[in-house]
Amino acid sequence: MSELLNFNYPPEQAVERVTFFADVILPLPLPKLYTYRIPFEMNDEVMVGARVIVQFGAKKVLSCIVAEIHQNAPADYQAKYILDVLDDKPIITTPQLKLFKWIADYYMCTLGEVINAALPSALKLSSESRIQLHPHYNPEEDELILAPQEEKIIYALQHNQALTFTDIGNLLQIKSYHKFIKSLIQKEAIIIYEQVSDKFSPKVVKKLRISEHFVQDEGMLEELFNQLAPQPKQLDVLLNYLQKVPVHQDIHLNFKGIEKSELTNSPHLSASSINTLIKKGVLEQFDQVVSRFPVEHQAKLLPMTLSEHQAKAKDEILGLFKEKDTVLLHGVTGSGKTEVYIDLIKHALDGGGQVLYLLPEIALTAQIVQRLMKVFGEKLGVYHSKFSDNERAEVWQGILSGRFQVVVGVRSSVFLPFHDLSLIIIDEEHEASYKQYDPAPRYNARETALMMAHLQGAKTLLGSATPSVETYYNCKTGRWGLVEMHKRFGEAQLPEIELVNTREEQHRKNMHSHFSGKLLTAIEERLNRKEQVILFQNRRGYAPFISCDECSWIPKCKHCAVSLSYHKYNNELRCHYCGYHERMPHDCPACGATTLKSMGFGTEKVEDELKLMLPSADVQRMDLDTTKKKNSYQQIIADFETGKTNVLVGTQMVTKGLDFEHVSLVGILNADTIINFPDFRAHERAYQLFVQVSGRAGRKEKPGAVIIQTRDPLQPIFRKVRSNDYLSLYEHEIEERLRFGYPPFVRMIKVTVKHVDERTSENAAIVLAKDLTDRLGKQQVLGPEVPYIFKIRNLFLQEVHIKLPRETTNLRSAKGQIAQAIFNLKLLPDFKDVRIVADVDPV
Ligand code: ADP
Ligand code: ZN
Ligand code: ZN
Repeated sequence: MSELLNFNYPPEQAVERVTFFADVILPLPLPKLYTYRIPFEMNDEVMVGARVIVQFGAKKVLSCIVAEIHQNAPADYQAKYILDVLDDKPIITTPQLKLFKWIADYYMCTLGEVINAALPSALKLSSESRIQLHPHYNPEEDELILAPQEEKIIYALQHNQALTFTDIGNLLQIKSYHKFIKSLIQKEAIIIYEQVSDKFSPKVVKKLRISEHFVQDEGMLEELFNQLAPQPKQLDVLLNYLQKVPVHQDIHLNFKGIEKSELTNSPHLSASSINTLIKKGVLEQFDQVVSRFPVEHQAKLLPMTLSEHQAKAKDEILGLFKEKDTVLLHGVTGSGKTEVYIDLIKHALDGGGQVLYLLPEIALTAQIVQRLMKVFGEKLGVYHSKFSDNERAEVWQGILSGRFQVVVGVRSSVFLPFHDLSLIIIDEEHEASYKQYDPAPRYNARETALMMAHLQGAKTLLGSATPSVETYYNCKTGRWGLVEMHKRFGEAQLPEIELVNTREEQHRKNMHSHFSGKLLTAIEERLNRKEQVILFQNRRGYAPFISCDECSWIPKCKHCAVSLSYHKYNNELRCHYCGYHERMPHDCPACGATTLKSMGFGTEKVEDELKLMLPSADVQRMDLDTTKKKNSYQQIIADFETGKTNVLVGTQMVTKGLDFEHVSLVGILNADTIINFPDFRAHERAYQLFVQVSGRAGRKEKPGAVIIQTRDPLQPIFRKVRSNDYLSLYEHEIEERLRFGYPPFVRMIKVTVKHVDERTSENAAIVLAKDLTDRLGKQQVLGPEVPYIFKIRNLFLQEVHIKLPRETTNLRSAKGQIAQAIFNLKLLPDFKDVRIVADVDPV
């Protein structure tokens, strides 16, 4: 019977129609993946790592990433259908997906949060995504073959600036309209963008080359000459082209062609002949999307040969890579680590792999990109948060397509779609800015990069003049390799460091506001010698707070438990935690006196006062307030590099890795606020900061000096900084960490409880700490305690610190316990709207 039935079926229906399901990652903080059903006709199109469109909730239409494809229908709900497929190739690679899962697991967040942080929003679509006509598409002129629905969309776009996806749905009156959008994108008739203000126009140049069939061999080129002989003007064009692109020497040169403007702008060539040649098919016109990051031509950036020390370090690194996956290059400031990196990158590229070069700070990227561009040209991609979203999407796609083989970028570059990494460089590996603090994922790019290297079989080189204690410990125990460079490059010496006791100077009436006489004189001297100065103060704004002389009133933030900082340039009081700001009052709102005084000082005041004291000095400031605009970093650094400015005042930003030839003096205005910080890393941090900022002085021929102003010059840390004694710092620190139970001997997790009501927050924290203690043991749980800043953005904070001994803990199960405790707490009616944040390896 069954045979008979089968026999009766037409053959194609006899093939079993398998029902597939896809688990997708929605860009939302959802605890689990959602399963959607793949319509049969899309069975071949849906791929892991590619985007599909789904409906989520009643209204929302979102794009999401396919994480897995399988045949298991969800047990507890009816799977909705996938509406459309967006990509014909994955935009997330398999190793990337693995890494994202690791991040979500390790840093205790959801995959959706990781995806959300990872994808540039130009690659995320939602019902609110918008489309516009492609800037290079002209519906009146360009003849595209369009489906009727596509015509409809284009017509609508000719009469509207932009349309949302919802608009398109309404326009076409169908649900599966995404395929038309996709098709129009492929035909380059429209583009998608997220915000009206951020319209994407790819940088495109028109280029010309000889049509391929004329350059398959030399005979054909000759034949072409003969053909054109009667048209001397056209022949001229061709000869001119061949002069610029010597195809007769190397046929392959033709492929890249030249920019059309090179021919059309030439006064000797006839424009109509050029066009005739295009029409005849002799020349072929094509568009090329050009890099937004043009190679800067700077004469002084000549290729360098490694010094003997550098070459030795490089060989040692390569030697160690044979046995170990991770190596630390510990080289003093100015030892020439960057050149060693560049050489290793070349080496890695020769082997055919991709390279990621991580930097802690955008300011630093601005400087290093120039050096790298010179060497790697168009293979180099740059990635950081000051780029527009579309520029980031461009880098993303460029890595997938193979256009960029080296990427230099900050923290978030670890999210990029590498699939064939062979080397990762983590420069200034000790930097706390590698850790994302808020929002989730609260990842550390250093740890994440190490995991990424592991997943892709790549090697990692960490570099620093002041390695983190954890990193150095890994080298000492032999897990990682260690290579050292003790000397500065060339003849340069490490700078002399001098301490100025501000307490005494004050007594002697030798302080001019925040400048000691010594520092002022030293600055003047350098300026007279046409040398440059960097001044460091770790606070931005004019003053950290103001106070009434009569009644001691101090303005506080309405939303946070901090005082408001005074910013003089716009006469504002500002909260550095939530951004709240108000006008600086004229007189005291508490007592009416007009005796408001600013207390303490920030970079703005340093800049202000220096301009008054040394009117001839050209002073510029680099801090969060002066670097808001996209290119401001580059501008400030270029001005200082070219000598347009001669004093650079700044916060942390001026301390990290910058390399200026003519800086011969560095001043640290107030060292005390750096040392006296309540944290187990305070000592290490202070050392790193002093050594790094000092390291900006005397990097080339000019000997460098450093002046540190402090009220307490006898602090032991200064001795270590002055003698550049990293080892004694390390030994002291590692002993303390062992004794008091801190990383690297334990893993720390900080759980912060937040609520608008102070009591609720406190009670929730007590319950949570109790539960955690029951689960993990008394030794492992500290707190709850009220942090130093106990209220931020109207939420009262409580902290519970968890310490997990490294050797004996099963980290995964401990994190499971913590997650469970948090989950259980939120089930209690009193605490259901308490916010709880887990921060793994806080810094
Ligand atoms: P680090 O990163 O170790 O602090 P850099 O890599 O910035 O040091 O190098 C310090 C200075 O020495 C830079 O100005 C750099 O241009 C110069 N330098 C380093 N290596 C070479 C080399 N091989 N040839 C010429 N100059 C070099
Ligand atoms: Zn007052
Ligand atoms: Zn605030």
